[in-house]
Amino acid sequence: MKFSFLGGAGEVGRSAYLIEDEKRLLLDYGIKLHQRTEYPLPFQGFIDYSILSHAHLDHSGFIPAIYEYCSPPCIATYPTQALSTLLVKDSMKVQKLKKQKVNFSGNSFRKMLSNFIPLPYGKSFSLSDNISLTFTDAGHISGAAISTMQIGDKKVVYTGDFKLGDTWMHKGAECIDGCNILLIESTYSQKEHPDRKKLEEELYSEVTSVLERGGNALLPCFAVGRSQEIIQMLRYFDGDMKIFFDGMAQTASEIMLDYPSYIRDAKYLANCLKTAEWVISPGQRKKALSKPSVIISTAGMLEGGPALKYALGLNNESEIILTGFQVPGTNGSMLLEQHKMRVNGIVHDIKVPVEYFDLSAHASRSDLFRFVDKASPEKIFCVHGDTCREFAEELREKGYDAVAPANGESFVV
Ligand SMILES: [Zn+2]
Ligand SMILES: [Zn+2]
Repeated sequence: MKFSFLGGAGEVGRSAYLIEDEKRLLLDYGIKLHQRTEYPLPFQGFIDYSILSHAHLDHSGFIPAIYEYCSPPCIATYPTQALSTLLVKDSMKVQKLKKQKVNFSGNSFRKMLSNFIPLPYGKSFSLSDNISLTFTDAGHISGAAISTMQIGDKKVVYTGDFKLGDTWMHKGAECIDGCNILLIESTYSQKEHPDRKKLEEELYSEVTSVLERGGNALLPCFAVGRSQEIIQMLRYFDGDMKIFFDGMAQTASEIMLDYPSYIRDAKYLANCLKTAEWVISPGQRKKALSKPSVIISTAGMLEGGPALKYALGLNNESEIILTGFQVPGTNGSMLLEQHKMRVNGIVHDIKVPVEYFDLSAHASRSDLFRFVDKASPEKIFCVHGDTCREFAEELREKGYDAVAPANGESFVV
């Protein structure tokens, strides 16, 4: 069995892993969002199945490009299909706005849609006489899956992005009991997350202090997952706080509520969403900025979306509160490090305070080790992280056969 790493090796972004045995399976095919979008390496020949772990663009963003060359079924959960359609469509729009070339045709995008095959959690899907695939809940975003593949006599597990701890949106993932080969995300391999409950209390008190001094608390959030997590959390603490809800998170929320079994408490989420003012006009944006309020708006790394406009219009008492992973080179990371943001090629100084709360939807360092110990694999590939090498090194010290591949590398197992 051959494993080729076409992207997402030693980095967060453009995840793309090819498994070749009796069939050729492509696990994810994402993009890396930067000022310039980066793509995974091309694959040679045909793909038999495209397997999509979840909707985030670093996993789904380049799936349509597969359909320039061939027409494999794309297996994903229902919410992943709907959410990735939304996100990929939006990324095509953003790239066009940035005057970047979209590296696949509208026709390929439509071919992707017509080749989706839904696979719910816990059901085994036969890819051939000797290969089967089962998804289990990854606890990361709605529809996110850990893929377990039985390939001949080998059990191969690809974690995708996962989280073991509970959040407002999801119950934590279950560890996989025993496997032969493991591809595991490594995003936080060198970092423990702070205590979630305490962090949520701190975030709430930060937000209240901004409102009390007469500012807006701007929370740039990812459309899928984080926006919904934040609104549920804030409502738990305060039922009356004025919250504006803007950007693509609106459509993403509606999609999530279409698949209630994929989230922890759809009723509570629906109720929380009803209490917020959904922004649908520029006039409402002005209104949001005219008095103290919480503004939850896409995009999470400020690489587009209404959050950019809000960030440039905040009064001096306001604050920008980031709660998600900020890829180096994005506006979010520039804000944290230099208090600057680039909009339409112009660099702006941002005067208001910028705070970061680590409300991660990824496994922490100890979760990663716990997952590995339970899976107890013969071979481990550490992917999706800036610290894959360190993680693999530590796993080797514990006696595992672990490697942190580089993009373009292949291994026969
Ligand atoms: Zn993700
Ligand atoms: Zn990811």
